[in-house]
Amino acid sequence: MAPEIKYTKLFIDNEWVDAKSGKTFDTYNPHDGSVIAKVAEGDKADIDLAVAAAKRAFHRNSEWRQLDASQRGAILHKFSELVERDWNYLAELESYNNGMVISLAKALRLVNLIRYIASCADKIKGDTIAADGEVFSYTLRQPVGVSGIILPWNFPIYIFINKVCTALAAGCTVVVKPAEQTPLTALALAALLAEAGVPKGVVNVVNGFGPGAGTALTHHVDVAKISFTGSVEVGKLIQQAAGTNNLKRVTLELGGKSPLVVMDDADLNLAVPIAANAVFAHQGQVCVAASRLFVQSGIYDKFVEAAVNYAKGIKVGNPADPTTQHGPQIDGEIMNKVLGYIEKGKKEGAKLLCGGKRVGTTGYYVEPTVFADVTDKMTIAKEEIFGPVQSILKFDTLEEVIDRANDTNYGLSAGIITTNVNNALQFAKHVESGIVRVNSYLGGGPQSPFGGFKDSGIGRENGMDALLAYTEVKNVVISLPKKV
Ligand code: NAD
Repeated sequence: MAPEIKYTKLFIDNEWVDAKSGKTFDTYNPHDGSVIAKVAEGDKADIDLAVAAAKRAFHRNSEWRQLDASQRGAILHKFSELVERDWNYLAELESYNNGMVISLAKALRLVNLIRYIASCADKIKGDTIAADGEVFSYTLRQPVGVSGIILPWNFPIYIFINKVCTALAAGCTVVVKPAEQTPLTALALAALLAEAGVPKGVVNVVNGFGPGAGTALTHHVDVAKISFTGSVEVGKLIQQAAGTNNLKRVTLELGGKSPLVVMDDADLNLAVPIAANAVFAHQGQVCVAASRLFVQSGIYDKFVEAAVNYAKGIKVGNPADPTTQHGPQIDGEIMNKVLGYIEKGKKEGAKLLCGGKRVGTTGYYVEPTVFADVTDKMTIAKEEIFGPVQSILKFDTLEEVIDRANDTNYGLSAGIITTNVNNALQFAKHVESGIVRVNSYLGGGPQSPFGGFKDSGIGRENGMDALLAYTEVKNVVISLPKKV
């Protein structure tokens, strides 16, 4: 049975309101392309209201600013309990609006993430400085202010929770602009934040489109910071916009063309499933997807055969079925983009060994696809596909593969599968990537910094690094008659 859709309006100042224009837009179920709700479409006028509410809530005398840091943490702990209470519903709503297979949606269970962030709220601290002269010098770490949060469609609940809770733990107030493809779970989470006791104006959610609500937020003079996850193309626009009317701080989590290296000494029984999951999980719609799979020449043929068998065994179907492993792409546009890349791969001479086609004629399904004999210059080895396409490239030496892995403007994630610790350490040191995994690929908890080198982003999510990026450092110097 389809999950109930409880909220479709904008959430501003803890009230559910229509868009000022009265406009709505349709949102879909990617399984069959059916319209599942009409959602209020916010624009500049609504962003102005939301930012004004967030600004009031950030006033030094506001209820929010008067809370102890530990009280902010307590509200977030309460939120974690509510998310836990409603988790089955939230996961079903995510699957329904996003196409994420229900087993993955349920497994994400983000309660630990919220608890971690909640427990960081009162760990933010300044320093005392060994300054010269008759002074007492110290620093305060203060919340940066109203933060604009712009979300992608691929992991809507996870990214909402991660960014919003981090901003709140730091003491900021937020205006969230979810992706137009997945507007629903952000509204359900806003309702839970209000239930947890977040005061009015602290969290506002304005659904809408990039060129309308998105640009209004990134240009707004009362917004102090933008945190964005999405494409490199839009990330660059956001960085420009952030410097237009004021100088916003920016955190950008962007795309990748991440290399996973399998050395000759790897255990195939370990390497093949890791590599498959690294690129097929969530239909390849994962920013860290290992979309360049480098396999050393000594095991190349055996590996390719096993990888094809593995991909053929992946169960494709309705994401609501708990046994389904592979659901639809988010929408028709993305599906066609992925199919276009597959055509390019064939045309440019890569060897298509399985998949390669749309599944059925309703919904947006693409078969798990494996290409072998991919070379560095092919489009499928250079551009982010964001779909279920495993591209296998052959290499001979570790030195060679490090150079080839780094020959890209991306630098989000990388992995190596090897039994030789020296290989692992060399690779980890020299690969240009914000995240490196050895003998595993996906995963990593809320404590570990997550983000990219080069065009894959600026700043880090997770851990104290993320929290501190919602703060400003203030140095206070007190002149004293006698040195202390
Ligand atoms: P997108 O960049 O098109 O859109 C992301 C968000 O930005 C949406 O909310 C959209 O409405 C908004 N937006 C679009 N134009 C805007 C503008 N000019 N100003 C302000 N906001 C604007 O990305 P997408 O299609 O939703 O997601 C797919 C891409 O995101 C992929 O390339 C993927 O690599 C990347 N991604 C990266 C990560 C990561 O953590 N690094 C995570 C998820 C997705």
